Amino acid sequence: SSSNHQYPEQLELHNYKLLNKIGEGAFSRVFKAVGINTDDQAPVVIKAIIKKGISSDDTLKGNDRIQGSSRKKVLNEVAIHKLVSKNNPHCTKFIAFQESANYYYLVTELVTGGEIFDRIVQLTCFSEDLARHVITQVAIAIKHRHYMGIVHRDVKPENLLFEPIPFYGLDGDMQKEDEFTLGVGGGGIGLVKLMDFGLAKKLRNNTAKTPCGTIEYVTPEVFTSKRYSMKVDMWSIGCVLFTLLCGYPPFYEKNEKTLLKKISRGDYEFLAPWWDNISSGAKNAVTHLLEVDPNKRYDIDDFLNDPWLNSYDCLKDSNS
Ligand code: ADP
Ligand code: MG
Repeated sequence: SSSNHQYPEQLELHNYKLLNKIGEGAFSRVFKAVGINTDDQAPVVIKAIIKKGISSDDTLKGNDRIQGSSRKKVLNEVAIHKLVSKNNPHCTKFIAFQESANYYYLVTELVTGGEIFDRIVQLTCFSEDLARHVITQVAIAIKHRHYMGIVHRDVKPENLLFEPIPFYGLDGDMQKEDEFTLGVGGGGIGLVKLMDFGLAKKLRNNTAKTPCGTIEYVTPEVFTSKRYSMKVDMWSIGCVLFTLLCGYPPFYEKNEKTLLKKISRGDYEFLAPWWDNISSGAKNAVTHLLEVDPNKRYDIDDFLNDPWLNSYDCLKDSNS
């Protein structure tokens, strides 16, 4: 099975030793690793991507030629990741690229808090302050990418990683997370990073046409019209913000056809009781992001200027 998939090529990965597996995608496995022959013992992350068309006992389906990633796709991911991660706190740092007979390897900085996705599962949903703290950082990450002409196309809670808020006790040792270390909105979330450039693309003429993304977070125009723009990321940000606030995504259906129909109509609701105590300002921001017509939808600057995004209730409370 795929989870027992062995990596017999460990030795072909130069300068790094794989430790435990921390993630898994369709064509990739993600490992924690450490450098060998170096003084720097800081752990890194290695995403091993299976090459397209290889055929060996090492495949997921016996001896079939497996469907992996093409060289062109992976080199695009690497190039964009390198470009975006330069001097950017809201992106995982890119460290190195390697390649062996059957795999591509992307070495990146380890982000220790894990996925925002898991933190939502853990907390059920986020307070408005915590949601704002997270989505503001996502918006800043997207602002930088859009400014460079890059569309991310895969903004979702699984691709958002965070550093926990560190707290040092009087003895100088790092303390375990507790109520004093939870920070803004009580979530223990510090710096947020938007990663995974597997679907990212540098746009020409500011439009693209290949349908892609994770269906639950994909915007209607990706499957209803021929070309789409940067605005696709804004729809996904809307899906993420919705999910942070109430704990479940705006569009969720087991049946894919029904799901696509609901997305194309923008058919979602602020259901009771989950939305009863959420402010009209937050709902207004979600509404402007989950706007079916891309021309009417918030762009990244509109969202960064949104009144709810810029209203810090936590500060207001402490002043009153
Ligand atoms: P895929 O393209 O298969 O989705 P990702 O690049 O999104 O691959 O990595 C899959 C998962 O591995 C992520 O959702 C995350 O949980 C984990 N991961 C990837 N990179 C890092 C990192 N730098 N630090 C911590 N976890 C990571
Ligand atoms: Mg991913």
